Amino acid sequence: MSVRQYGNWIDGDWARPGAARPIERRSPAHGALLATFADSAFAEVDAAVAAAKRAFRKAETWSDLAGGERAHLLNRWLDLVAADSEQLAVMEAEETGKPIRFARGEVAWSIELGRYAAALAWQIPGEALSHLGAPNFGLITRAPRGVVGMIVPWNFPLVTLFQKLPFALAAGCTCVIKPSELTSGTALEVAALAAKAGLPPGVINVVTGTGAQVGEALIDHPDVQMISFTGSTAVGRKIALRCGEQLKRVGLELGGKAANVVFADADIDAALDGALLGYVLNQGEECVQGSRLIVEERIADEFVARLAARSGAVRVGMPLDESTDMGALIHEQHMNKVLGYIETGKREGARLACGGHRITAHGLEQGCFVAPTIFAQVRPEMTLFREEIFGPVLSVTSFRTMDEAIALANDTRYGLGNGLWTKDVDKALLVSKKLRSGTVYVNTYLETAVQLPFGGVGQSGLGRENGLEGLLEFMDVKSTFVKLGKRPDALPHACS
Ligand code: NAD
Repeated sequence: MSVRQYGNWIDGDWARPGAARPIERRSPAHGALLATFADSAFAEVDAAVAAAKRAFRKAETWSDLAGGERAHLLNRWLDLVAADSEQLAVMEAEETGKPIRFARGEVAWSIELGRYAAALAWQIPGEALSHLGAPNFGLITRAPRGVVGMIVPWNFPLVTLFQKLPFALAAGCTCVIKPSELTSGTALEVAALAAKAGLPPGVINVVTGTGAQVGEALIDHPDVQMISFTGSTAVGRKIALRCGEQLKRVGLELGGKAANVVFADADIDAALDGALLGYVLNQGEECVQGSRLIVEERIADEFVARLAARSGAVRVGMPLDESTDMGALIHEQHMNKVLGYIETGKREGARLACGGHRITAHGLEQGCFVAPTIFAQVRPEMTLFREEIFGPVLSVTSFRTMDEAIALANDTRYGLGNGLWTKDVDKALLVSKKLRSGTVYVNTYLETAVQLPFGGVGQSGLGRENGLEGLLEFMDVKSTFVKLGKRPDALPHACS
């Protein structure tokens, strides 16, 4: 296997890595060296921001283009991304440890987000108000914010980026991206494809490295007008504070602890499938992971037994194996953290229904594999119920009444997503209205559309991505009041 060696992508070209030792990314599934990324610092961030600022200032080639022209360029870029989608999916699977089947889905969904954002560029909304008194009218227009710093995590490197990047570009912004130091490959590749498609140099820049060096330099840079961040709540809070000091715009997509509520009148087979996917997809490294199953008491025992049986049949294996359902966790330290939560669950008295251990058999001994794990009889005060574990661990709690189900689901500081399963339309609408989260899935899980905004309430974040809101996040509103004809003097006595 050849090792991919990357520099940064700045001003439409590869920038040679600096003197610092590069960051090595090894496979979390088998330990082989996959790629090296530049361990950048302030100088590289400064160069990238300067390029993005120049590209933004050169308005005639980007921010002042007709929206439709930006859309054409974005679509040409997305065609190239689509042509390379298999290679990108392989890279994504290798660097994250996720199964190739799901990595392909991630690339396809990213392209879909991009196509939608490009279409929005045709129709950036504005308003003319003509009823402001006879000779007056008002304009509400929108302008791109400027240079946007984008900081993204490792769990869905391409999707988390594509919830931001094409929307910001459609709005006319330019950007500097800081991908996770563990999974920087695809961000660098798509940036290089943008240049091939004819996007002007400096519109997309990628600087790799750590959060402490590259992320913080980007946040503090005076020429960056907005930070759009996806990652943990702990880091998001720090970023919000730093941006607050500078009165810098910030968008935050943070952690979650979603509930998947199953009523006894649900289509049970569908709910079993959704509950399983909800907690094992992406090895559970998923911000809207359905990590708390809240199930009606009279079906709880049987539901858990059947879910445990299905969990045992999940194929845990190598990322590039076509039959793998669940791959490796991102790295050893994270795997040990997840295993630590499993031990805490046992200690706190939850009942282990399946899994609960690392998998090292059949050629998986070098990797970070954890068996799908279910804990039943989890009480709301237990750690399993409260903390984002970010691994294939499900906690099950039962309820008797609808109000109890809602109270349990809402008993969290997070509010990114929730799911519910019932055939009763009244119940579906009543409960979804009461669930405190940015998204609710009804009779499905993790399924959505690019038109629907995505984001959190509470500790899950600020602002929205996707949908029209996802475009507007990257734009400032400008009001223009226009007076037509002769303006009566406001101070007639002072007119000579
Ligand atoms: P993380 O917060 O550790 O890191 C995210 C990014 O921030 C990385 O690029 C990292 O290098 C950078 N970073 C770290 N410290 C920084 C600092 N002090 N200043 C600036 N940048 C810094 O998150 P992670 O472990 O990569 O990802 C997992 C987390 O992301 C989970 O909590 C998950 O729920 C969340 N997430 C949220 C969404 C969403 O849309 N809400 C989507 C995916 C992941």
